Amino acid sequence: MQKRDQFYINGKWVQPSGSKTIEVFNASTEEVMATIPEGDDNDADAAVAAARAAFDAWSATTPAQRADYLRKIHEGLKARSDELAQIIAGEVGMPLKLAAAIQVGSPVANFGYYAKMVTGFEWEETAGNSRVLREPVGVVVAITPWNYPLHQIAAKVAAAMAAGCTIVLKPSEVAPLNAFVLAEVIDAAGVPPGVFNLVTGLGPGIGEALVRHPDVDMVSFTGSTRAGKRISEVAAATVKRVALELGGKSASVILEDADLASAVKGTVNACFLNSGQTCSAHTRMLVPESRYEEAARIAAEVAKGFTVGDPFGGSAKLGPLVSAAQRERVQNYIRKGMEEGAELLCGGPDAPAGLDRGYYVQPTVFGRVKPDSTIAQEEIFGPVLSIITYKDEDEAVRIANNTLYGLAGGVWAGSDERAQQVARRLRTGQVDINGGTFNLFAPFGGYKQSGRGREMGPYGLEEFLEYKSLQFKPNAPALTAKAPY
Ligand code: NAD
Repeated sequence: MQKRDQFYINGKWVQPSGSKTIEVFNASTEEVMATIPEGDDNDADAAVAAARAAFDAWSATTPAQRADYLRKIHEGLKARSDELAQIIAGEVGMPLKLAAAIQVGSPVANFGYYAKMVTGFEWEETAGNSRVLREPVGVVVAITPWNYPLHQIAAKVAAAMAAGCTIVLKPSEVAPLNAFVLAEVIDAAGVPPGVFNLVTGLGPGIGEALVRHPDVDMVSFTGSTRAGKRISEVAAATVKRVALELGGKSASVILEDADLASAVKGTVNACFLNSGQTCSAHTRMLVPESRYEEAARIAAEVAKGFTVGDPFGGSAKLGPLVSAAQRERVQNYIRKGMEEGAELLCGGPDAPAGLDRGYYVQPTVFGRVKPDSTIAQEEIFGPVLSIITYKDEDEAVRIANNTLYGLAGGVWAGSDERAQQVARRLRTGQVDINGGTFNLFAPFGGYKQSGRGREMGPYGLEEFLEYKSLQFKPNAPALTAKAPY
């Protein structure tokens, strides 16, 4: 049992202002695996003051200096990869091997990526008689969820540090332990005090205190649409910039001429990754009416192949859900699907056989789901796939676009060309063409209520930058000069 009882503020491990703590549960044993401090308004003030004080010097560093620190963090995280995979498999419940590859591999790579790209980025350009500079937005508060905890932290922290911003991170209280390791790595990398600060606690408590804070310039949030709306409201009082990565209800559109077996298998995989606790999960599978029976049979078969079990056991493809609350929420959605008359093709609301300890649920597939029903509209965040039929391509596009969300999706067709034509009609931030895989350098973010702004790659760096334009008299030498670094 770990006990984390300090925050990382201004380059030091410090005592929290109060004495309240939060328990962190192991997803597969339901036992308390750690406690963390529950921060309050005083802790928020201290962390923001440190970030504010560090900003002038950090924002004046050269991209090459920031690249050095990012490279050291990349190396430090890499050296602690095994430990991080163990921690995340414990707190989130993703099978260890997958957790090592995805939950740890991606954030390690992301710090390395920003270390490289920050020196090649166009920080200045000339537009007419103006020299346009890109400058860091200022003090950034990063608030993150539990499902890919370190990946989501890295997407914000690496990019914001690269931009020259200083940061206060408030990770999810459900899976916070990985963030403490990151703080240790950042400390060991010798990053100047105050550039990165870590506090923990509850959203409505220290979370809102940070969002409300007048010395914070930007909030970068990943989490539920519900919390994203509340954060936007609170941040509006001080006109802060707010970037939001929220929920999704993404569609995988399988066209008539697609290779059905690959398309269905690919869709089930894209739905069930991390036990369905993936914001970009393909949770609605759209198939032509004429191919429904075959698609339903293949989907149930593939779903049954997802062995559920201990994330540390070696053979499980699906671990438990993250928490008791999440398990209950998913089981309720499965019951709702049955009540609303969808065909239960496999799975169901009961715990999988032999797994009565741990937050496990059965991989579940519903057929003949009505496009307007609850399970086709609301984000479930569990291993639950809804199969919906359509008559023609126009109807498929209409159904795919008919949710409040627009985060991701997929199109499967006989050719990439045909798939791309349909992909261009989808109102969503990312579309995988015939099983195209996740790309760390592509912009990630949503249309509609899936959010505002983009993370990852150069697009993610731009989120943390302001434009400043300097007007000169025509032909002034500064208009053709090189940037000073
Ligand atoms: P959540 O919204 O409950 O919590 C996310 C974070 O926000 C936590 O750190 C929490 O403490 C904090 N928070 C909650 N209310 C707050 C408030 N009023 N003020 C300030 N901070 C607050 O979400 P969760 O349950 O941790 O994560 C699951 C959700 O996140 C899902 O809806 C999922 O789709 C979404 N998500 C989206 C993306 C994306 O990139 N689009 C990625 C992962 C998760």
